[in-house]
Amino acid sequence: MTESGVTEATPVVGRFAPSPTGRMHAGNIYAALIAWLVAKSQGGHMVLRIEDLDRERSKSVYIDQIQRDFETLGLFWDEGPYFQHDRDEAYAEAFGRLEARGLLYPCFCTRADLHAASAPHRGEKLVYAGTCRHLSDAEVEARWAAGRMPGWRVAVDSRTIAFEDLVQGTYAQKLDRDCGDFLIRRSDGAFAYQLAVVVDDAAQGVNSVVRGVDLLCSTPQQRYLQDLLGLPHPAYAHVPLLVAEQNRRLSKRDRDAALDELLARFGSPRAVIGHIAAVAGLVPEEAPATPEELLKDFSLERFRDGLPDLVQIPWRS
Ligand code: GLU
Repeated sequence: MTESGVTEATPVVGRFAPSPTGRMHAGNIYAALIAWLVAKSQGGHMVLRIEDLDRERSKSVYIDQIQRDFETLGLFWDEGPYFQHDRDEAYAEAFGRLEARGLLYPCFCTRADLHAASAPHRGEKLVYAGTCRHLSDAEVEARWAAGRMPGWRVAVDSRTIAFEDLVQGTYAQKLDRDCGDFLIRRSDGAFAYQLAVVVDDAAQGVNSVVRGVDLLCSTPQQRYLQDLLGLPHPAYAHVPLLVAEQNRRLSKRDRDAALDELLARFGSPRAVIGHIAAVAGLVPEEAPATPEELLKDFSLERFRDGLPDLVQIPWRS
């Protein structure tokens, strides 16, 4: 048994976890392609989970479009789609378990308070200063009485969470110094990404998480929650981001990375996949290919050893 809980008898279960806030672009196609190849190269299967926690930014037109995009590209899933908007009960149950252990506290800080009190750490994320952790009962009551709706944070301790990322190698955070108490539920009542993703990965049997390296710094938070909730740790692989000029990650404004533009320019889904595979150094020469065809020559070790840079891959060279 490995630490990820994967045994020979346990199939690898990977996932696509798109947020339906826009159409796919080269960056998320690349991460999805690697996630698919990692699972399939180990005889595993893929779950599709639509991460529509953010009800305001999630649009039903993208929920449909993203599924068509995956299918067009040959990135087929075996299970799902599951939707986070259906999962409030499961998140509330986990929230209740953490609350019963006295690990949660209400946080009344506004965005401005947070920026004033938190120091950005290693350029990664703001570390919460713990302002609301030590409020007295009277102070908490006064804030409730003033009508402020709090978010909810989980208290961290001084433990170090370290793990072996399949691409990035060893990664560690000392939770109190590098991470701070983090949000589990937002002040608008929505459960936060960190809680939802942990509850969903466990419930859906996901034991192989492949995603962009921008989420590497979230992984210690997720592993901490898995520890608190008694859930298994998946294996993690954080792949490089495709970047534009000055190492800016690709976004919707990069029209030449948008799937509709790519399909128009390259003429077929196979040619789009072939182009992305070549840009990312997955194949020595650019040629149209389906994910299935790329599978023949794929292995995680070779993939990792062949990466020019573990963090960034220029989209336009
Ligand atoms: N829904 C997130 C995104 O589209 C991915 C979250 C994850 O992979 O854990 O960026």
